[in-house]
Amino acid sequence: MPPGRVIFVGAGPGDPDLLTLRALDCLRRADVVVYDVLVPAVVLDAAGTHAERLPVPRPASSDADPGFAVGQLLVELAEKHRVVVRLKGGDPGVFARLTEEQQPLREAGVPWEIVPGVTAALAAAAVAGVPLTSRTAASSVTLLTGHEAGDKGSALDFEALARLPGTLVVYMGVEQVATWSRALIAAGRRGDTPVTVVSRCSWPDQRTCFTTLGDCGEELDRCGWMAPAIVIIGEVAGQPALPASGPARGAAALGPLSGRTVLITRPAGQGGELSALVAAHGGSSVHLPVIRIGPPDSWAALDAALDAADSFDWIVFASANGVRSFAERLRVAGRDIRHLGTARVAAIGPATAREAALLGIPSDLVPEDQRSEGIVAALGDGPRQGRFLLVRASRGRDVMRRGLEALGHDVTEVSAYSSLGVDSIDPSMLAELERGIDWITLTSSFIAESACRLFGERLRLWKVASLSPVTTATLVAAGVTPTVEAAQPSTAGLVAAIAGWEAAHRDFAHPAGSADAVRTARRPPGHALDSGTASRR
Ligand code: SAH
Repeated sequence: MPPGRVIFVGAGPGDPDLLTLRALDCLRRADVVVYDVLVPAVVLDAAGTHAERLPVPRPASSDADPGFAVGQLLVELAEKHRVVVRLKGGDPGVFARLTEEQQPLREAGVPWEIVPGVTAALAAAAVAGVPLTSRTAASSVTLLTGHEAGDKGSALDFEALARLPGTLVVYMGVEQVATWSRALIAAGRRGDTPVTVVSRCSWPDQRTCFTTLGDCGEELDRCGWMAPAIVIIGEVAGQPALPASGPARGAAALGPLSGRTVLITRPAGQGGELSALVAAHGGSSVHLPVIRIGPPDSWAALDAALDAADSFDWIVFASANGVRSFAERLRVAGRDIRHLGTARVAAIGPATAREAALLGIPSDLVPEDQRSEGIVAALGDGPRQGRFLLVRASRGRDVMRRGLEALGHDVTEVSAYSSLGVDSIDPSMLAELERGIDWITLTSSFIAESACRLFGERLRLWKVASLSPVTTATLVAAGVTPTVEAAQPSTAGLVAAIAGWEAAHRDFAHPAGSADAVRTARRPPGHALDSGTASRR
Protein backbone atom coordinates (compact mmCIF):
# COMPACT_ATOMS: atom_id res chain seq x y z
CA MET A 1 0.00 0.00 0.00
CA PRO A 2 1.35 3.48 -0.84
CA PRO A 3 2.63 5.37 2.23
CA GLY A 4 0.57 8.50 1.62
CA ARG A 5 -3.04 9.46 1.83
CA VAL A 6 -5.14 11.92 -0.10
CA ILE A 7 -7.31 14.58 1.51
CA PHE A 8 -9.98 16.14 -0.69
CA VAL A 9 -10.24 19.63 0.76
CA GLY A 10 -13.00 22.15 0.01
CA ALA A 11 -11.38 25.54 -0.61
CA GLY A 12 -14.63 27.52 -0.38
CA PRO A 13 -15.60 30.16 -2.97
CA GLY A 14 -12.29 32.04 -3.05
CA ASP A 15 -11.82 34.26 -0.01
CA PRO A 16 -9.26 32.53 2.23
CA ASP A 17 -11.27 33.65 5.26
CA LEU A 18 -13.97 31.21 4.15
CA LEU A 19 -11.70 28.18 4.53
CA THR A 20 -12.69 25.89 7.40
CA LEU A 21 -10.22 25.48 10.27
CA ARG A 22 -9.79 21.87 9.21
CA ALA A 23 -9.00 22.90 5.62
CA LEU A 24 -6.39 25.34 6.91
CA ASP A 25 -4.83 22.66 9.09
CA CYS A 26 -4.66 20.21 6.15
CA LEU A 27 -3.11 22.85 3.91
CA ARG A 28 -0.43 23.58 6.48
CA ARG A 29 0.40 19.90 6.83
CA ALA A 30 0.34 19.11 3.11
CA ASP A 31 3.47 17.86 1.37
CA VAL A 32 1.88 18.52 -1.99
CA VAL A 33 -1.26 20.43 -3.02
CA VAL A 34 -3.04 19.64 -6.28
CA TYR A 35 -5.37 22.55 -6.96
CA ASP A 36 -8.16 23.57 -9.33
CA VAL A 37 -7.58 26.54 -11.62
CA LEU A 38 -10.52 28.31 -9.97
CA VAL A 39 -8.79 28.29 -6.57
CA PRO A 40 -7.20 31.75 -6.21
CA ALA A 41 -3.55 32.11 -5.29
CA VAL A 42 -4.52 33.71 -1.97
CA VAL A 43 -6.09 30.43 -0.84
CA LEU A 44 -3.11 28.45 -2.01
CA ASP A 45 -0.87 30.77 -0.01
CA ALA A 46 -2.40 29.26 3.13
CA ALA A 47 -0.44 26.06 2.39
CA GLY A 48 2.83 25.55 4.25
CA THR A 49 5.85 27.17 2.69
CA HIS A 50 7.46 23.77 2.03
CA ALA A 51 4.45 22.31 0.15
CA GLU A 52 4.78 21.56 -3.54
CA ARG A 53 1.93 23.12 -5.57
CA LEU A 54 0.58 21.47 -8.71
CA PRO A 55 -2.22 22.98 -10.82
CA VAL A 56 -4.75 20.70 -12.45
CA PRO A 57 -5.14 21.88 -16.05
CA ARG A 58 -8.65 22.66 -17.26
CA PRO A 59 -9.90 19.39 -18.78
CA ALA A 60 -9.60 19.23 -22.56
CA SER A 61 -12.87 18.40 -24.30
CA SER A 62 -11.11 15.42 -25.89
CA ASP A 63 -10.35 13.99 -22.44
CA ALA A 64 -12.54 10.91 -22.03
CA ASP A 65 -12.52 11.22 -18.25
CA PRO A 66 -10.47 14.11 -16.84
CA GLY A 67 -11.43 13.16 -13.29
CA PHE A 68 -9.89 9.73 -13.70
CA ALA A 69 -6.62 11.26 -14.99
CA VAL A 70 -6.43 13.49 -11.92
CA GLY A 71 -7.09 10.45 -9.71
CA GLN A 72 -4.16 8.65 -11.33
CA LEU A 73 -1.93 11.65 -10.60
CA LEU A 74 -3.07 11.51 -6.96
CA VAL A 75 -2.11 7.82 -6.74
CA GLU A 76 1.39 8.61 -8.08
CA LEU A 77 1.79 11.43 -5.58
CA ALA A 78 0.63 9.26 -2.67
CA GLU A 79 3.46 6.86 -3.51
CA LYS A 80 6.00 9.64 -2.89
CA HIS A 81 4.39 11.88 -0.26
CA ARG A 82 2.69 11.40 3.09
CA VAL A 83 -0.02 14.07 2.86
CA VAL A 84 -1.47 14.83 -0.57
CA VAL A 85 -4.10 17.57 -0.52
CA ARG A 86 -6.50 17.73 -3.45
CA LEU A 87 -7.80 21.29 -3.13
CA LYS A 88 -11.13 21.86 -4.86
CA GLY A 89 -13.14 25.07 -5.18
CA GLY A 90 -16.22 25.26 -2.95
CA ASP A 91 -17.10 21.81 -1.66
CA PRO A 92 -15.25 18.77 -3.03
CA GLY A 93 -18.51 16.89 -3.55
CA VAL A 94 -20.50 19.49 -5.52
CA PHE A 95 -20.01 19.42 -9.30
CA ALA A 96 -16.41 18.43 -8.75
CA ARG A 97 -15.88 14.97 -10.32
CA LEU A 98 -15.15 13.54 -6.89
CA THR A 99 -16.25 9.97 -7.74
CA GLU A 100 -14.10 9.92 -10.87
CA GLU A 101 -11.03 11.11 -8.99
CA GLN A 102 -11.59 8.56 -6.23
CA GLN A 103 -11.82 5.59 -8.62
CA PRO A 104 -8.03 5.18 -9.18
CA LEU A 105 -7.43 5.67 -5.44
CA ARG A 106 -9.90 2.90 -4.66
CA GLU A 107 -8.18 0.58 -7.15
CA ALA A 108 -4.70 1.34 -5.75
CA GLY A 109 -5.82 1.08 -2.12
CA VAL A 110 -4.89 4.68 -1.29
CA PRO A 111 -6.85 5.92 1.73
CA TRP A 112 -8.64 9.25 1.46
CA GLU A 113 -10.56 11.70 3.57
CA ILE A 114 -12.96 14.52 2.64
CA VAL A 115 -12.97 17.97 4.23
CA PRO A 116 -16.15 19.85 3.27
CA GLY A 117 -16.04 23.43 2.02
CA VAL A 118 -18.45 26.34 1.65
CA THR A 119 -20.07 25.64 -1.69
CA ALA A 120 -20.67 28.59 -4.04
CA ALA A 121 -24.48 28.45 -3.61
CA LEU A 122 -24.23 29.08 0.13
CA ALA A 123 -21.59 31.79 -0.18
CA ALA A 124 -23.56 33.58 -2.92
CA ALA A 125 -26.80 33.53 -0.96
CA ALA A 126 -25.03 35.00 2.06
CA VAL A 127 -23.42 37.76 0.03
CA ALA A 128 -26.70 38.73 -1.65
CA GLY A 129 -28.53 38.61 1.65
CA VAL A 130 -31.13 36.13 0.44
CA PRO A 131 -32.06 32.89 2.21
CA LEU A 132 -32.10 29.67 0.18
CA THR A 133 -35.14 28.31 2.00
CA SER A 134 -38.06 30.04 3.60
CA ARG A 135 -40.91 28.71 5.71
CA THR A 136 -43.45 30.39 3.45
CA ALA A 137 -41.84 30.38 0.01
CA ALA A 138 -39.30 27.59 -0.41
CA SER A 139 -39.19 24.20 1.31
CA SER A 140 -36.52 22.76 -0.96
CA VAL A 141 -33.28 23.77 -2.69
CA THR A 142 -32.04 22.15 -5.88
CA LEU A 143 -28.47 22.57 -7.11
CA LEU A 144 -28.17 22.09 -10.86
CA THR A 145 -25.62 22.63 -13.59
CA GLY A 146 -26.52 24.99 -16.42
CA HIS A 147 -23.60 23.74 -18.47
CA GLU A 148 -25.49 20.80 -19.95
CA ALA A 149 -28.67 22.74 -20.68
CA GLY A 150 -28.10 22.69 -24.43
CA ASP A 151 -26.88 19.08 -24.62
CA LYS A 152 -29.09 16.53 -26.32
CA GLY A 153 -28.50 13.84 -23.73
CA SER A 154 -28.75 16.28 -20.80
CA ALA A 155 -29.97 14.77 -17.56
CA LEU A 156 -31.78 18.02 -16.75
CA ASP A 157 -35.54 17.49 -16.60
CA PHE A 158 -36.90 21.03 -17.01
CA GLU A 159 -40.51 19.90 -16.54
CA ALA A 160 -39.64 18.49 -13.13
CA LEU A 161 -37.44 21.48 -12.21
CA ALA A 162 -40.15 23.97 -13.18
CA ARG A 163 -42.74 22.08 -11.11
CA LEU A 164 -40.60 22.09 -7.94
CA PRO A 165 -41.96 24.73 -5.58
CA GLY A 166 -38.56 25.60 -4.00
CA THR A 167 -35.35 27.42 -4.89
CA LEU A 168 -33.17 26.48 -7.86
CA VAL A 169 -29.45 27.28 -7.82
CA VAL A 170 -27.64 27.12 -11.14
CA TYR A 171 -23.90 26.40 -11.23
CA MET A 172 -21.90 26.88 -14.45
CA GLY A 173 -24.85 28.78 -15.87
CA VAL A 174 -23.34 31.80 -17.63
CA GLU A 175 -22.74 30.36 -21.09
CA GLN A 176 -26.08 28.62 -21.43
CA VAL A 177 -28.23 31.23 -19.67
CA ALA A 178 -30.54 31.79 -22.65
CA THR A 179 -31.15 28.06 -23.05
CA TRP A 180 -31.95 27.12 -19.46
CA SER A 181 -33.95 30.25 -18.64
CA ARG A 182 -36.18 29.76 -21.71
CA ALA A 183 -36.53 26.04 -21.02
CA LEU A 184 -37.70 26.73 -17.45
CA ILE A 185 -40.27 29.28 -18.67
CA ALA A 186 -41.45 26.95 -21.43
CA ALA A 187 -41.92 24.26 -18.79
CA GLY A 188 -44.13 26.54 -16.69
CA ARG A 189 -41.97 28.69 -14.36
CA ARG A 190 -43.18 32.29 -14.42
CA GLY A 191 -41.06 34.85 -16.27
CA ASP A 192 -41.29 37.23 -13.31
CA THR A 193 -39.75 34.72 -10.88
CA PRO A 194 -37.03 36.63 -8.99
CA VAL A 195 -33.41 35.83 -9.86
CA THR A 196 -30.24 36.80 -8.00
CA VAL A 197 -26.86 36.51 -9.69
CA VAL A 198 -23.59 36.66 -7.79
CA SER A 199 -20.53 36.60 -9.96
CA ARG A 200 -17.06 35.99 -8.54
CA CYS A 201 -18.50 35.56 -5.11
CA SER A 202 -16.09 36.56 -2.29
CA TRP A 203 -13.47 37.64 -4.83
CA PRO A 204 -12.39 41.29 -4.70
CA ASP A 205 -14.41 42.01 -7.86
CA GLN A 206 -17.59 40.29 -6.71
CA ARG A 207 -20.89 41.57 -8.15
CA THR A 208 -24.49 41.00 -7.21
CA CYS A 209 -27.43 41.64 -9.49
CA PHE A 210 -31.19 41.21 -9.03
CA THR A 211 -33.33 40.42 -12.07
CA THR A 212 -36.04 37.98 -13.20
CA LEU A 213 -36.09 34.66 -14.99
CA GLY A 214 -37.55 36.30 -18.11
CA ASP A 215 -34.94 39.07 -18.22
CA CYS A 216 -31.83 37.29 -17.03
CA GLY A 217 -30.71 36.20 -20.51
CA GLU A 218 -30.69 39.78 -21.83
CA GLU A 219 -29.31 41.27 -18.64
CA LEU A 220 -26.22 39.12 -18.79
CA ASP A 221 -24.15 41.94 -20.26
CA ARG A 222 -25.77 44.78 -18.39
CA CYS A 223 -25.07 43.16 -15.02
CA GLY A 224 -21.52 42.33 -15.96
CA TRP A 225 -21.77 38.64 -15.19
CA MET A 226 -18.37 37.13 -15.23
CA ALA A 227 -17.67 33.46 -14.63
CA PRO A 228 -17.70 31.96 -12.18
CA ALA A 229 -21.23 32.96 -11.29
CA ILE A 230 -24.11 31.52 -9.30
CA VAL A 231 -27.75 32.08 -10.20
CA ILE A 232 -30.42 31.75 -7.52
CA ILE A 233 -33.98 31.38 -8.84
CA GLY A 234 -37.19 31.52 -6.78
CA GLU A 235 -39.32 33.63 -4.48
CA VAL A 236 -36.42 33.92 -1.99
CA ALA A 237 -34.23 35.59 -4.64
CA GLY A 238 -36.03 38.95 -4.66
CA GLN A 239 -33.98 42.00 -3.72
CA PRO A 240 -33.67 42.22 0.07
CA ALA A 241 -35.03 45.33 1.79
CA LEU A 242 -31.57 46.51 2.86
CA PRO A 243 -28.77 46.82 0.31
CA ALA A 244 -26.42 43.88 0.63
CA SER A 245 -23.04 44.77 2.00
CA GLY A 246 -21.16 41.63 2.84
CA PRO A 247 -21.17 39.77 6.11
CA ALA A 248 -22.46 42.59 8.27
CA ARG A 249 -25.74 43.40 6.56
CA GLY A 250 -27.69 43.32 9.80
CA ALA A 251 -25.34 45.76 11.48
CA ALA A 252 -24.80 47.86 8.37
CA ALA A 253 -27.43 50.42 9.23
CA LEU A 254 -25.94 50.99 12.68
CA GLY A 255 -22.17 51.35 12.75
CA PRO A 256 -19.94 54.30 11.81
CA LEU A 257 -18.65 52.31 8.83
CA SER A 258 -22.10 51.60 7.40
CA GLY A 259 -22.02 51.86 3.61
CA ARG A 260 -18.20 51.85 3.60
CA THR A 261 -15.97 49.22 2.05
CA VAL A 262 -12.51 48.67 3.44
CA LEU A 263 -9.74 47.00 1.45
CA ILE A 264 -7.65 44.60 3.50
CA THR A 265 -4.18 44.01 2.07
CA ARG A 266 -2.69 41.57 4.59
CA PRO A 267 -1.36 38.18 3.47
CA ALA A 268 -3.76 35.32 2.73
CA GLY A 269 -5.34 33.79 5.80
CA GLN A 270 -4.52 36.86 7.91
CA GLY A 271 -7.44 39.14 7.07
CA GLY A 272 -10.01 37.60 9.40
CA GLU A 273 -9.49 39.74 12.47
CA LEU A 274 -9.55 43.00 10.52
CA SER A 275 -12.62 42.02 8.49
CA ALA A 276 -14.50 40.98 11.66
CA LEU A 277 -13.76 44.36 13.24
CA VAL A 278 -14.86 46.25 10.14
CA ALA A 279 -18.07 44.21 10.12
CA ALA A 280 -18.59 44.92 13.82
CA HIS A 281 -18.50 48.64 12.96
CA GLY A 282 -21.11 48.14 10.23
CA GLY A 283 -18.81 48.18 7.21
CA SER A 284 -17.90 45.60 4.64
CA SER A 285 -14.46 44.55 3.55
CA VAL A 286 -12.64 43.10 0.59
CA HIS A 287 -9.47 41.11 1.07
CA LEU A 288 -6.81 41.42 -1.61
CA PRO A 289 -3.35 40.51 -0.30
CA VAL A 290 -0.54 42.68 -1.65
CA ILE A 291 2.15 40.52 -0.07
CA ARG A 292 2.52 36.81 0.52
CA ILE A 293 4.57 34.73 2.89
CA GLY A 294 7.27 32.53 1.39
CA PRO A 295 10.14 30.44 2.72
CA PRO A 296 13.27 32.28 3.94
CA ASP A 297 16.16 32.60 1.50
CA SER A 298 17.68 29.62 3.26
CA TRP A 299 16.53 27.32 6.06
CA ALA A 300 20.12 26.67 7.19
CA ALA A 301 20.25 29.27 9.97
CA LEU A 302 16.90 28.26 11.43
CA ASP A 303 17.74 24.55 11.25
CA ALA A 304 21.06 25.14 13.02
CA ALA A 305 19.29 27.15 15.71
CA LEU A 306 16.67 24.41 16.11
CA ASP A 307 19.46 21.85 16.60
CA ALA A 308 20.74 23.93 19.50
CA ALA A 309 17.34 25.17 20.68
CA ASP A 310 17.78 24.20 24.33
CA SER A 311 21.00 26.20 24.60
CA PHE A 312 19.07 29.49 24.45
CA ASP A 313 17.67 31.33 27.45
CA TRP A 314 15.03 33.02 25.36
CA ILE A 315 13.39 32.32 22.02
CA VAL A 316 11.78 35.54 20.81
CA PHE A 317 9.08 35.53 18.13
CA ALA A 318 8.74 38.82 16.28
CA SER A 319 5.58 37.81 14.37
CA ALA A 320 2.86 35.19 14.01
CA ASN A 321 4.34 34.21 10.64
CA GLY A 322 7.66 33.51 12.36
CA VAL A 323 5.94 31.27 14.91
CA ARG A 324 4.15 29.32 12.19
CA SER A 325 7.26 28.79 10.15
CA PHE A 326 9.29 27.84 13.25
CA ALA A 327 6.66 25.30 14.35
CA GLU A 328 6.43 23.90 10.83
CA ARG A 329 10.19 23.45 10.62
CA LEU A 330 10.25 21.79 14.03
CA ARG A 331 7.55 19.37 12.84
CA VAL A 332 9.32 18.66 9.53
CA ALA A 333 12.38 17.68 11.60
CA GLY A 334 10.20 15.24 13.56
CA ARG A 335 10.49 17.32 16.74
CA ASP A 336 8.11 19.08 19.09
CA ILE A 337 8.12 21.61 21.91
CA ARG A 338 10.05 19.28 24.28
CA HIS A 339 13.05 19.92 22.05
CA LEU A 340 13.11 23.56 23.22
CA GLY A 341 14.21 22.36 26.68
CA THR A 342 14.44 25.10 29.26
CA ALA A 343 14.41 27.98 26.78
CA ARG A 344 11.72 30.53 27.61
CA VAL A 345 9.49 32.00 24.94
CA ALA A 346 8.66 35.66 24.32
CA ALA A 347 6.07 36.83 21.79
CA ILE A 348 6.12 40.40 20.53
CA GLY A 349 2.37 40.91 20.89
CA PRO A 350 -0.92 39.20 21.72
CA ALA A 351 -1.53 38.03 18.12
CA THR A 352 1.89 36.36 18.02
CA ALA A 353 1.30 34.81 21.46
CA ARG A 354 -2.09 33.51 20.33
CA GLU A 355 -0.61 31.86 17.25
CA ALA A 356 2.15 30.32 19.37
CA ALA A 357 -0.39 28.99 21.86
CA LEU A 358 -2.44 27.48 19.01
CA LEU A 359 0.67 25.66 17.84
CA GLY A 360 1.38 24.34 21.33
CA ILE A 361 4.10 26.85 22.28
CA PRO A 362 2.99 28.81 25.35
CA SER A 363 4.65 32.22 25.82
CA ASP A 364 6.37 33.15 29.06
CA LEU A 365 6.39 36.83 28.22
CA VAL A 366 4.30 39.18 26.09
CA PRO A 367 5.54 42.74 26.63
CA GLU A 368 2.95 45.47 26.92
CA ASP A 369 4.88 47.77 24.62
CA GLN A 370 4.68 45.90 21.33
CA ARG A 371 7.41 47.71 19.47
CA SER A 372 10.84 46.11 19.16
CA GLU A 373 12.08 48.72 21.63
CA GLY A 374 9.46 47.51 24.10
CA ILE A 375 10.53 43.90 23.91
CA VAL A 376 14.17 44.89 24.41
CA ALA A 377 13.24 46.81 27.53
CA ALA A 378 11.13 43.95 28.89
CA LEU A 379 13.70 41.21 28.17
CA GLY A 380 17.01 42.88 28.34
CA ASP A 381 17.24 44.21 31.86
CA GLY A 382 17.85 40.85 33.57
CA PRO A 383 20.72 40.55 36.03
CA ARG A 384 22.88 38.32 33.87
CA GLN A 385 23.80 38.08 30.25
CA GLY A 386 21.57 35.75 28.26
CA ARG A 387 21.53 33.88 24.98
CA PHE A 388 18.71 35.01 22.75
CA LEU A 389 17.29 33.44 19.60
CA LEU A 390 15.36 36.00 17.54
CA VAL A 391 12.98 34.47 15.02
CA ARG A 392 11.99 37.00 12.38
CA ALA A 393 11.40 37.71 8.69
CA SER A 394 14.17 37.78 6.11
CA ARG A 395 13.91 41.52 6.00
CA GLY A 396 12.79 44.00 8.58
CA ARG A 397 14.21 46.29 11.20
CA ASP A 398 16.98 44.94 13.41
CA VAL A 399 16.22 47.25 16.31
CA MET A 400 15.70 44.29 18.60
CA ARG A 401 19.03 42.62 17.92
CA ARG A 402 20.97 45.86 18.29
CA GLY A 403 19.11 46.75 21.46
CA LEU A 404 19.79 43.40 23.13
CA GLU A 405 23.43 43.38 22.04
CA ALA A 406 23.90 46.87 23.41
CA LEU A 407 22.83 45.45 26.78
CA GLY A 408 25.57 42.81 26.49
CA HIS A 409 23.45 39.82 25.49
CA ASP A 410 24.43 37.16 22.99
CA VAL A 411 21.94 37.26 20.11
CA THR A 412 21.39 34.77 17.29
CA GLU A 413 19.03 36.08 14.66
CA VAL A 414 17.39 33.72 12.17
CA SER A 415 14.93 34.37 9.39
CA ALA A 416 12.04 31.94 9.36
CA TYR A 417 10.11 33.27 6.37
CA SER A 418 10.21 36.00 3.81
CA SER A 419 7.57 38.50 2.84
CA LEU A 420 7.20 38.74 -0.92
CA GLY A 421 5.36 41.39 -2.87
CA VAL A 422 2.44 40.16 -4.97
CA ASP A 423 3.55 40.50 -8.62
CA SER A 424 0.50 42.10 -10.20
CA ILE A 425 -3.25 42.54 -9.95
CA ASP A 426 -5.66 41.68 -12.71
CA PRO A 427 -6.66 44.94 -14.52
CA SER A 428 -10.40 44.14 -14.41
CA MET A 429 -10.12 43.63 -10.67
CA LEU A 430 -8.32 46.96 -10.31
CA ALA A 431 -11.08 48.73 -12.24
CA GLU A 432 -13.68 47.16 -9.97
CA LEU A 433 -11.79 48.15 -6.83
CA GLU A 434 -11.37 51.69 -8.10
CA ARG A 435 -15.14 52.10 -7.93
CA GLY A 436 -15.94 49.96 -4.95
CA ILE A 437 -13.44 50.88 -2.23
CA ASP A 438 -13.58 53.70 0.34
CA TRP A 439 -10.61 52.84 2.55
CA ILE A 440 -7.37 50.95 2.11
CA THR A 441 -5.65 49.60 5.24
CA LEU A 442 -1.88 49.33 5.31
CA THR A 443 -0.52 47.35 8.23
CA SER A 444 3.24 47.35 7.70
CA SER A 445 5.93 49.22 5.82
CA PHE A 446 6.43 46.40 3.38
CA ILE A 447 2.69 46.17 2.72
CA ALA A 448 2.64 49.93 2.15
CA GLU A 449 5.52 49.68 -0.34
CA SER A 450 3.86 46.86 -2.20
CA ALA A 451 0.50 48.69 -2.28
CA CYS A 452 2.16 51.83 -3.70
CA ARG A 453 3.75 49.71 -6.42
CA LEU A 454 0.53 47.81 -7.29
CA PHE A 455 -2.05 50.59 -6.95
CA GLY A 456 -0.01 53.67 -7.88
CA GLU A 457 -2.20 56.74 -8.37
CA ARG A 458 -5.27 54.82 -7.22
CA LEU A 459 -4.10 55.28 -3.65
CA ARG A 460 -5.21 58.89 -4.05
CA LEU A 461 -8.77 57.79 -4.78
CA TRP A 462 -9.11 56.00 -1.47
CA LYS A 463 -8.79 57.07 2.10
CA VAL A 464 -5.64 55.54 3.53
CA ALA A 465 -5.34 54.08 7.04
CA SER A 466 -1.83 53.48 8.34
CA LEU A 467 -0.99 51.18 11.26
CA SER A 468 1.92 53.04 12.79
CA PRO A 469 4.39 55.89 12.43
CA VAL A 470 6.83 53.51 10.69
CA THR A 471 4.22 52.62 8.06
CA THR A 472 3.28 56.27 7.69
CA ALA A 473 6.91 57.22 7.08
CA THR A 474 7.11 54.70 4.22
CA LEU A 475 3.90 56.11 2.72
CA VAL A 476 5.00 59.71 3.03
CA ALA A 477 8.32 58.85 1.36
CA ALA A 478 6.26 57.48 -1.54
CA GLY A 479 4.24 60.69 -1.72
CA VAL A 480 1.09 59.38 -0.02
CA THR A 481 -0.29 61.13 3.06
CA PRO A 482 -2.41 58.75 5.11
CA THR A 483 -5.88 59.96 6.04
CA VAL A 484 -5.53 58.42 9.50
CA GLU A 485 -2.89 56.69 11.56
CA ALA A 486 -3.83 54.28 14.37
CA ALA A 487 -3.16 55.62 17.86
CA GLN A 488 -2.31 52.05 18.92
CA PRO A 489 -0.44 49.90 16.36
CA SER A 490 -3.02 47.09 16.38
CA THR A 491 -5.93 45.94 14.25
CA ALA A 492 -8.35 47.38 16.79
CA GLY A 493 -6.47 50.68 16.82
CA LEU A 494 -6.61 50.87 13.04
CA VAL A 495 -10.36 50.25 12.82
CA ALA A 496 -10.96 52.70 15.67
CA ALA A 497 -9.08 55.37 13.71
CA ILE A 498 -11.17 54.75 10.58
CA ALA A 499 -14.41 54.71 12.56
CA GLY A 500 -13.38 57.90 14.33
CA TRP A 501 -12.70 59.67 11.05
CA GLU A 502 -16.04 58.54 9.60
CA ALA A 503 -17.94 59.60 12.71
CA ALA A 504 -16.26 63.01 12.63
CA HIS A 505 -17.04 63.50 8.95
CA ARG A 506 -20.71 62.54 8.93
CA ASP A 507 -23.58 64.85 9.77
CA PHE A 508 -24.33 62.78 12.85
CA ALA A 509 -22.01 61.99 15.71
CA HIS A 510 -21.83 58.28 16.23
CA PRO A 511 -21.12 57.04 19.73
CA ALA A 512 -19.15 53.99 18.53
CA GLY A 513 -16.49 56.04 16.77
CA SER A 514 -14.06 57.96 18.92
CA ALA A 515 -12.39 61.03 17.51
CA ASP A 516 -9.54 60.46 20.00
CA ALA A 517 -8.41 57.50 17.96
CA VAL A 518 -7.63 59.73 15.01
CA ARG A 519 -4.19 61.19 14.91
CA THR A 520 -4.06 62.52 11.38
CA ALA A 521 -7.46 63.48 10.11
CA ARG A 522 -6.29 65.34 7.07
CA ARG A 523 -7.29 64.12 3.65
CA PRO A 524 -4.49 63.62 1.17
CA PRO A 525 -4.19 66.30 -1.49
CA GLY A 526 -5.90 65.39 -4.73
CA HIS A 527 -8.40 63.14 -3.01
CA ALA A 528 -10.98 62.57 -5.72
CA LEU A 529 -13.82 60.84 -3.92
CA ASP A 530 -16.00 62.66 -1.49
CA SER A 531 -16.62 60.53 1.55
CA GLY A 532 -19.82 58.67 0.96
CA THR A 533 -19.95 58.74 -2.83
CA ALA A 534 -18.24 55.43 -3.28
CA SER A 535 -20.24 52.58 -1.94
CA ARG A 536 -20.13 49.02 -2.93
CA ARG A 537 -22.89 48.10 -5.36
N1 SAH B 1 -17.23 22.53 -6.17
C1 SAH B 1 -17.65 23.89 -6.47
C2 SAH B 1 -18.38 23.98 -7.78
C3 SAH B 1 -17.53 23.70 -8.98
S1 SAH B 1 -18.38 23.91 -10.49
C4 SAH B 1 -18.51 24.41 -5.32
O1 SAH B 1 -18.91 23.64 -4.46
O2 SAH B 1 -18.78 25.60 -5.28
C5 SAH B 1 -17.92 25.56 -10.92
C6 SAH B 1 -19.09 26.48 -10.74
O3 SAH B 1 -19.22 26.81 -9.37
C7 SAH B 1 -18.93 27.82 -11.42
O4 SAH B 1 -19.30 27.74 -12.79
C8 SAH B 1 -19.89 28.67 -10.65
O5 SAH B 1 -21.22 28.43 -11.00
C9 SAH B 1 -19.69 28.13 -9.24
N2 SAH B 1 -18.69 28.90 -8.51
C10 SAH B 1 -17.54 28.48 -7.99
N3 SAH B 1 -16.88 29.47 -7.34
C11 SAH B 1 -17.67 30.56 -7.46
C12 SAH B 1 -17.56 31.90 -7.00
N4 SAH B 1 -16.51 32.34 -6.29
N5 SAH B 1 -18.55 32.77 -7.30
C13 SAH B 1 -19.63 32.37 -8.01
N6 SAH B 1 -19.77 31.11 -8.47
C14 SAH B 1 -18.82 30.22 -8.19
